[in-house]
Amino acid sequence: MKNKLEEIRSILIEHHQEIRSAIPLIASENITSPAVDEACNCDFSHRYAEGWVGQRVYAGCKYIDKIESLCMDLTKEYFNCCFADVRPISGVMANLVLYNAFTSRNHGKMMAMPIPKGGHISHAPFETSNGRKIYGTAGTVRGLDIKYFAFDEENMNLDVDASAKIIREFKPEMVLFGGSVFLFPHPVKELSEVAKEIGAHVGYDGAHVAGLIGSGYFQDPLREGADAMSLSCHKTLPGPQTGAVVSNREDLVEDLKNAAFPSLFSNHHLHNIAGFAVALTEMLEFGKKYHEKVIKNAQALGSALQERGFKVLCEHLGFTKSHQIVIDIGNFEKTVGLGGTLEALLEEANIIVNRNLLPWDIREGRHYMNPGGLRLGTSEVTRLGMNESEMVEIAEFFKKIIVEQQDPKKVRREVAEFKEQFQEVKYCFQSPNKAYEYLKFY
Ligand SMILES: *Cc1c(COP(=O)(O)O)cnc(C)c1O
Repeated sequence: MKNKLEEIRSILIEHHQEIRSAIPLIASENITSPAVDEACNCDFSHRYAEGWVGQRVYAGCKYIDKIESLCMDLTKEYFNCCFADVRPISGVMANLVLYNAFTSRNHGKMMAMPIPKGGHISHAPFETSNGRKIYGTAGTVRGLDIKYFAFDEENMNLDVDASAKIIREFKPEMVLFGGSVFLFPHPVKELSEVAKEIGAHVGYDGAHVAGLIGSGYFQDPLREGADAMSLSCHKTLPGPQTGAVVSNREDLVEDLKNAAFPSLFSNHHLHNIAGFAVALTEMLEFGKKYHEKVIKNAQALGSALQERGFKVLCEHLGFTKSHQIVIDIGNFEKTVGLGGTLEALLEEANIIVNRNLLPWDIREGRHYMNPGGLRLGTSEVTRLGMNESEMVEIAEFFKKIIVEQQDPKKVRREVAEFKEQFQEVKYCFQSPNKAYEYLKFY
């Protein structure tokens, strides 16, 4: 087995070397600081706690309780609210907590975004392009009947009047805002009023935009009518992979707590709570500057790509108000190909993006394996210190590979050289601890 161990190590080293010279543009990803990594590598990863702070099922939780309390306090401070549950181990888990708290088990009714228009796989059933095959997902596992918001494709947002009509007719128990393609704030205020009319709860899936919201950008769902927000702690928020639920409704706290434990999990990932607490200290100190730059970079990348022959969605709205932009690559279908092909070509040059369905793709018979769009995000490149001028350089690489069809292997060398200058995580406290550096390459 010694040779297998060597194999595992060498694969990990290769991965790190590749990431080190890559341009990471996956909108759901980010990079953690050395201080967060240090916390995530602590002994908490070996321990069991279960339950709420002070009411644990296991002994040995004295320090775990202190850290989890601190983490909840920091979360409440960041989101300016009265309740935070940091136990859900991912964003999907956090969504399940909301479903559990606010809907009935079988045939509970929920409104959400459809996947091809930006909804997440944990919201809605997944239908293939022939419109027939349906995969079960987190929402359907609970037996939810799901209807979709009406969507305004031109403005990449919910259509308020048409969605209000659907809410009034369908009478869901819960209306869930938020999505994975999320360029502009959703009309939470307007549609929450309609949801309240029919007695529905309002959820907001802030998995992608939680960091922007905490730092005071994008929108403020808890004050616009959302009863609770679910989030991932590792997208625009640069923490470890875990999840959380926050709310400002005192009267719903017990329901939300009980909907999480013991319903959905036994232990939670205690080391990641330590890491998340550290990430929150960083965002409470540096988040305003960081997230302002994330959004500016996304807008700069949008206009630099547009100037170089790419059709970036929503030019008339400044491309985005979040960390994401979406490119319609239909104009390259004949010369290069669609999403699957472009994603692979860019990866050959070590530029990492994801292909994405556009709202009209299913209608045009396109498949999610080779859709008409690319989604790019600027959270990670910004965390590594890039500014608007670097967004122009990245757009140049796109042009070389896709418009000029230069050899991606050649561009890969230029990408590696460019990336050499961005090897350090910014917007965090300088950490004196070097103990874990062998695990990280930034
Ligand atoms: C990423 C995402 C999630 C799930 O997050 P995980 O932490 O990966 O479970 C949930 N909702 C939306 C809208 C997302 O984009």
